[in-house]
Amino acid sequence: MTKGKTSYKFNIGIYSLFIKRKDCYEGKEKIIRNVEKAVQKYRFAVQVLFALLCIWIGVEFTVFVKSLEAGNPEMVSSRPAGVEGFLPISALMSVYYFFATGEIHPAHPAGFFIFLAIVGVSLVVGKSFCSWLCPIGFLSETIGDFGEKIWHKLFKKRIKLPRFIDYPLRSLKYLLLGFFVYAIFFSMTINALKAFLDGPYNLVADIKMYYFFANISRFSLTVIAVLFVLSIFIRNFWCRYLCPYGALLGLISFLSPLKIKREAKSCIDCGLCAKACPSFIKVDKVDTVRSDECSMCLSCVDACPVADTLYVQTKVTDKKISKKIVVLAVITTYIAITGIGILTGHWKNNISGKEYIILHEQIDNLGHPTSTADIEKLNKETETGVNK
Ligand code: SF4
Ligand code: SF4
Repeated sequence: MTKGKTSYKFNIGIYSLFIKRKDCYEGKEKIIRNVEKAVQKYRFAVQVLFALLCIWIGVEFTVFVKSLEAGNPEMVSSRPAGVEGFLPISALMSVYYFFATGEIHPAHPAGFFIFLAIVGVSLVVGKSFCSWLCPIGFLSETIGDFGEKIWHKLFKKRIKLPRFIDYPLRSLKYLLLGFFVYAIFFSMTINALKAFLDGPYNLVADIKMYYFFANISRFSLTVIAVLFVLSIFIRNFWCRYLCPYGALLGLISFLSPLKIKREAKSCIDCGLCAKACPSFIKVDKVDTVRSDECSMCLSCVDACPVADTLYVQTKVTDKKISKKIVVLAVITTYIAITGIGILTGHWKNNISGKEYIILHEQIDNLGHPTSTADIEKLNKETETGVNK
């Protein structure tokens, strides 16, 4: 047979493709089909389990708050420490506090370890927390899948914002991240940080969050509804444009040793990988996926019909990594880091039921700094010992 481009007909699941082959295999025109099992069903299972865990934490936390409302210190229910995973700003402050003092702040130790686990997962497997574990990411993906079905029926294609809108919008999440990093790392003194972490607002930040959603204002509800609707039109609207956590993990993902590689020699330019990518990355046009938007969902790798053409590789050894190893790495890294928190006794805080009831009684009067002037005031007060 002659070398060069030839058309072949492939039956790949529901796809029947005419594809062009660029190369030959030992002088024969032969394409080796990718038979490695897809991991999307595992990803879905992990997402569902993690979402169920979050729902369970939500239910347990509601019972805890109701017991505080009852006001009997003897009858305060157990507080699920996992709720601190929903306090990322307090966790970021605890991380800064840890680096500055070498101590784990005792107010929300689980939040500190959950934050480290999320960062750890991103260091090992890129931005995988977003596509494998995050309940908001899961919800966003589900809404996006629903929206895509509608748009595919109507227009036979996916909707993507043009670059001149997409790029500036994507920078919003970095601006939000920059704001939090500036407010915590550059505008607060260590004394002020400690005063905030020790302060009553931080101690009940989770209960404040509960009441925010339990008594949600019309404005907040409208914002959530708008984000929901936008996510139907524009896939992953919140995650792609607004989530500062995602922005942080996207930056950390550049340090991950795992990357998705495309073998141009055996690639048949079918474009299935780019079509499968929820982040609209042109996987079929690059040799290595280097994008802050890649969430290591592995949809592209699963979609590739040719063996050893699209795969996960380590930057360190240049070796191909099986998809199952990637799945295990995501799960074990998260469990290992949170496990260290649990096993070393840094999980549940030691605030008693009685203390929680007293704090709960004051909850409407507790606030946090809302401007640079407030932070400067806190810096000065803690400098002179007023707030120590
Ligand atoms: S490039 Fe692949 S792994 Fe990354 S987000 Fe797109 S589909 Fe997922
Ligand atoms: S890398 Fe992408 S374009 Fe190339 S064969 Fe695989 S799915 Fe098709």
